Amino acid sequence: MPYEIVTVPCLQDNYAFVIANLETLEAAVVDVPEADPINEILAKRGWTLTTVLLTHHHDDHVQGLEALTGRVDLRVIGASADAHRLPPLDVSVAEADTIDVLGIPTHIIDVSGHTMGHITFHMPSQDAAFTADSLMALGCGRLFEGSPALMFESLTKLNALPDETMIYSGHEYTATNARFALTIEPENAALISRREAIKLARAAGSPTVPSSLKRERATNPFLRAHVRQIAEHLGMPNAAPVDVFTEIRKRRDKF
Ligand code: ZN
Ligand code: FE
Repeated sequence: MPYEIVTVPCLQDNYAFVIANLETLEAAVVDVPEADPINEILAKRGWTLTTVLLTHHHDDHVQGLEALTGRVDLRVIGASADAHRLPPLDVSVAEADTIDVLGIPTHIIDVSGHTMGHITFHMPSQDAAFTADSLMALGCGRLFEGSPALMFESLTKLNALPDETMIYSGHEYTATNARFALTIEPENAALISRREAIKLARAAGSPTVPSSLKRERATNPFLRAHVRQIAEHLGMPNAAPVDVFTEIRKRRDKF
């Protein structure tokens, strides 16, 4: 069945994603930073919104919900662990659940770290993982609630997905992330050429999200804590990957 996924820039640097079933013309949206750009796409394409998928409770991911077109009939889906601080949920989900979204089997992966109860919606049939503020293009979310070890574990789960999985992250932070990544791995040729591609994309006003997991594995320092050259570059040649990851996250906070 044909589906389309549209990246929708919202607010300053947020992304929502509209997923449409092109046969039924029904749509779902992942996160709602603001309603207007989402309502606009739905109207323009003639899609009916039936489902809202919420990755975590932060305002910049949920605050547009009330103003979405067709609010009355929406099925709102989010993490049971986060239900006390999310908008009212119609369906609560947890790690390892599978739900149906517009006919797409969707797996729930708990990726706590940025917040406790942050989830990723993984759609293997669409090669799509909606990771929001967990794994991001060339980065990972800031640790507001979880420990570095917990985020490392969450990213390790995402890193087990197939190469061709597209990572739909929640913000356009990629240019800054690239500058930071180069301080961790200045010699990484794939990273250097990705930085150039990012510059071109941003100059043209194009999103750098989504990106493939294959590319993230080759360039994202937060997925590369096991690389010996990185540990050596950070002056911790014998450290465990989780400790290298912790150091990289600490440096990113100060960058
Ligand atoms: Zn957030
Ligand atoms: Fe966010």
